[in-house]
Amino acid sequence: MESVLIQDLSDQIREKARELGFDLCGIARPRVLSDNGKILEKWCEAGMNAGMIYLQRNIEKRINPGLLMPDARSIVVTGLSYYTDLKQKDPRAPVLSRYAYGLNYHDVISPMLEKLLEFIKTNVPGCDGRVFCDSGPLLEKAWARQAGLGWQGRHSIMINREIGSFFFIGAVVLNIELDYNTPFDGDYCGTCTKCIEKCPTGAINDDRTIDARKCIANLTIENRGPIPEEIIPRLQGRVYGCDICQNACPWNNSPQARAHPAFAINDEVAAMTREDWLSLTEDQYNMLFKKSALERVKYTDLLRNISAAIKSMDYQQLFNQ
Ligand code: SF4
Ligand code: SF4
Repeated sequence: MESVLIQDLSDQIREKARELGFDLCGIARPRVLSDNGKILEKWCEAGMNAGMIYLQRNIEKRINPGLLMPDARSIVVTGLSYYTDLKQKDPRAPVLSRYAYGLNYHDVISPMLEKLLEFIKTNVPGCDGRVFCDSGPLLEKAWARQAGLGWQGRHSIMINREIGSFFFIGAVVLNIELDYNTPFDGDYCGTCTKCIEKCPTGAINDDRTIDARKCIANLTIENRGPIPEEIIPRLQGRVYGCDICQNACPWNNSPQARAHPAFAINDEVAAMTREDWLSLTEDQYNMLFKKSALERVKYTDLLRNISAAIKSMDYQQLFNQ
């Protein structure tokens, strides 16, 4: 394809992504992410991936998109905000992570990415691709940086200067060349260390990685065992996921995007009191959370989390007396 046509097509893809509802879209040139591979290897060797053994199995695949799709020529990376001002009403209730307020992000974003892929295929005969939304061994954060969307903050999460860090990343790997964005090479954390200071469990390392063994997000979502006794008093009421480091980040003070409607908090969940959480039955769990990100934890794991979250709030109250 001629370079003018490639540029036009790339602009159309970015425009189509916006039309479909994405807040961000950039295009990266596939390559082997050797530096990220070394960091990931070191992190796994130190045991910081906790029970997530799958992360150490296919590092080669994770850093080389050519092993996921042999003829990969471009990676279109999208960002979709889930920031919402509306929160749970009862300040005594266990606290949900913002990303889990609405519908399961896989179910919302994958069809949007599929539509974007269909649009590209319709415009380019012979084009093929594969969509990713936390659904395969693709280093989405690293590709978001390569596509110019932002940088990885000290808390390891991607930050975009306009919309902060409360956004989901998605990607479409394509077999056609496009006009690539310039990789983001800035670091706008500066001298700030607020996320590190606020993290209640000391889970943030000094190389922009997280020790999953201490991170509340991992311990309340991926973890299938008990929540460690020494962590429970530090949960600050978190029942599923944890936004403490992101809430502390100055880049989230006034994000210029609001959540896609599918991620707004469900009215019934917003209204749940501490007592409602404590008496949650399996039927209620199925009714309230089966279409949300919480489906990742079984009912019994959620009960484990509720009990730990309430205990942590009681500790906090005792401590403040
Ligand atoms: S999610 Fe919570 S526990 Fe994990 S690093 Fe951030 S503040 Fe710490
Ligand atoms: S709180 Fe500060 S150090 Fe942490 S990610 Fe945000 S800007 Fe960076």
